[in-house]
Order: sequence, then C-alpha cells, then structure tokens
Amino acid sequence: MATSEDYYTILGVARNASKDDIKKAYRKLAMQYHPDRNPGNKEAEDKFKSINAAYEVLSDEQKRQQYDNLGHQMFTQGGRGGGGMSPEDIFASVFGGDGGDFFSSFFGGGSRRRKSGPTKGEDLLYELEIDFEDAMFGAEKNITIPRTESCQQCHGSGAQPGTSRKTCPQCQGAGQVSMSQGFFSISQPCPNCRGSGSILETPCSECHGAGVLRKSKSLKITIPAGVDSGQRLRVSGEGNAGQRGGPSGDLFVALHVRPHEIFVRDEQDLYCEVPIPFTTAVLGGEITVPTITGKEVLKVPPGVQSGTRLRMRGKGVPSLSAGRGRGNQYVRVIVEVPVNLDSNQRKKLQEFADACDPEKNPSTHPRLQAFLKKARKFFL
Ligand SMILES: [Zn+2]
Ligand SMILES: [Zn+2]
Repeated sequence: MATSEDYYTILGVARNASKDDIKKAYRKLAMQYHPDRNPGNKEAEDKFKSINAAYEVLSDEQKRQQYDNLGHQMFTQGGRGGGGMSPEDIFASVFGGDGGDFFSSFFGGGSRRRKSGPTKGEDLLYELEIDFEDAMFGAEKNITIPRTESCQQCHGSGAQPGTSRKTCPQCQGAGQVSMSQGFFSISQPCPNCRGSGSILETPCSECHGAGVLRKSKSLKITIPAGVDSGQRLRVSGEGNAGQRGGPSGDLFVALHVRPHEIFVRDEQDLYCEVPIPFTTAVLGGEITVPTITGKEVLKVPPGVQSGTRLRMRGKGVPSLSAGRGRGNQYVRVIVEVPVNLDSNQRKKLQEFADACDPEKNPSTHPRLQAFLKKARKFFL
C-alpha cells in the first residue's frame, strides 16, 4: 500500500502533533472512511488503508522517529511502512477490544465481516436410548440422522457445472448496502447476495444454489463398553455439511441408558438385592446370583443379617479406559421370613423356637440382648 502522500498530511496533523492529537485525528478519519460506512467505495477503502498505514507508523514512537529521519519516500521504500498489522487490527486496537463489536452495535447489528469464506457445518446432536446391556458390553447401533450434505453435482459451490459466480449487481461486490437514516448511513448485508458480494450466474439445478442438500443419512455408531447415561459420543465430520468448501460439523450422540430390572449402577459398581431364606441366613450356604456376565455362586456366611452387603470383586461395570478392569458388584441380602407354612412345618419351627429361646440362650441373639439392656429401664 505504497502511498506517495506524507503520513502527517494523510492524518491532517502537524509534524509536531502529540500522540493524543494523532489518535484523535485517526479516530475521526477511520470512522469516516471505514469500509462498513462506504460499501463498494474503492476510493474510501484506499483512503482507509492509508490512514491505517499512517497511524501505525506515527503512533509508534520508534517508527515515527525513523520516519522523521528518513523521510516519507525512503521510509516506505525501505519496506518499513507496512507493519504486521492489518487495517482491521489497527482499527480494532484503537476502538478498544474488537472494532467489530463497536461497529455492529453502532450500526444496529449485522456482521461486519463478509460471509463469503468457507464455513464449518453445524454440529448435530442425536439422543440415543440404549439397553443396560449395551452400555455394559458395548454395541453397534444403526441410526438415521437428518442432515445436510454437500451437493454432488456442484461440489458444494451452488453453481450449475460450467457456470460461475458473478459480482452482485446490487452492491457491486461489497456485500453491504447502506441506507440513509437521518444523520447516519446504516450499513446492512446486501439482501441480493446475502452479504457475500457475488451471486450465482446459474444456480445448480440439483440444490437450487444452496450447495447443500437435506438428506437422511444412516450411520453405524460404535458404543464402547462401560458408557453411562449423560455421556456423549463424538462422531467426527458427520454433522451438517460445511458451506463453500468448509469442513462438515461433528455429530454428537447423547446416550441414555434404560434402567435394568435387577441392577442399579453407580459409576463402575453395580448394586442388587437378593432375597435369601432365613435358614440360609442362619446356617450359611451358597446362593446363585445374577451378574451381567451370567450367574455366579455366592457364599453366604452363617449368621448373615438382613441388609448385609456382600461384595463380588470385579463383577461390576467394565472401565471405559482399557486395562482398568471392572468395578464390583454388591449384593444386598434380604432375609425372607417364610410364609404359608403347613402344620408340619409350623410344628418343626415351634420345636426350633423352644430349643432356641433367646431368654434361655442369650448368646444366640446378641442384638436383642443389647437392645434389652438399654430398654430394660423402660420396662419397670
Ligand atoms: Zn448443487
Ligand atoms: Zn450484493
């Protein structure tokens, strides 16, 4: 952006102008010539660039000194003129944070940047309900998702093959049109080209110019063993198609695990309740219990109380990270009091009751004894 005009002249300030004066002058001119306020005006755009080039040098003490020493011609020829910053960056730095915010709020919304570059497609979310077993062992599921896909005929360009885009006649390629509203001229994205600055010569006959088509896509989803409700699987690149050559978005599959009729899960552990006969509780023995990998025999120690939790190591949920093994299964034994006894059974049980009278055999019922000790004073 070589300009023959002196930087001081461009900003309209004296050679001994203070830093503040330079900034003030810049702000005023930058507002006046900003491309948003002069859509399609090439002269204003050039002016805006020179203002920024001038400000970049004069606002920097070191550069300004060099400039003063060498003179405009020498300085710009020496390649010192164009710094690393773009006019937009300089503008943003002066107008605080992001000049874009400033402009969009100032001019009542609308994006300052032209939406003509490649855009990534949207991510999609799919809610998938799976069985408890699928979460335990992993599974493959076929799902069908509605999404947009890049048009095969025009390869996403939206242009009928053999035709191309042409400059939008309404905005002359600026992507913005301005409307006068009182004192301000309000800049808005061009409605004809939707802000892109160009329109299709002939829209693609397949996608009518959209570049993408609505499709329903079948996908096979691999669910790893150990997943839980609330977790999301990310399937990279299976979201909506990108626009103008941009990459596709991702597909997120949110998992909901149906409850199991026996097991309740807590992280890597499984919990279940198993009723046992009171004789097994008294005498001890073996019971058969379900685990997610099949039935297992569980030893019950003699004298187990109702509600006792017995651990089955490594019979829980597989870990999502390989090599971490499985959690535990906890079996809560519930002692079932026998019902519907026939007379013979009742007789035998009565014999047992007589032989095992807690008052005569206090050590057979230690909990009852402990309770009676505390309760005795209430029985007086
Ligand atoms: Zn097409
Ligand atoms: Zn236009």
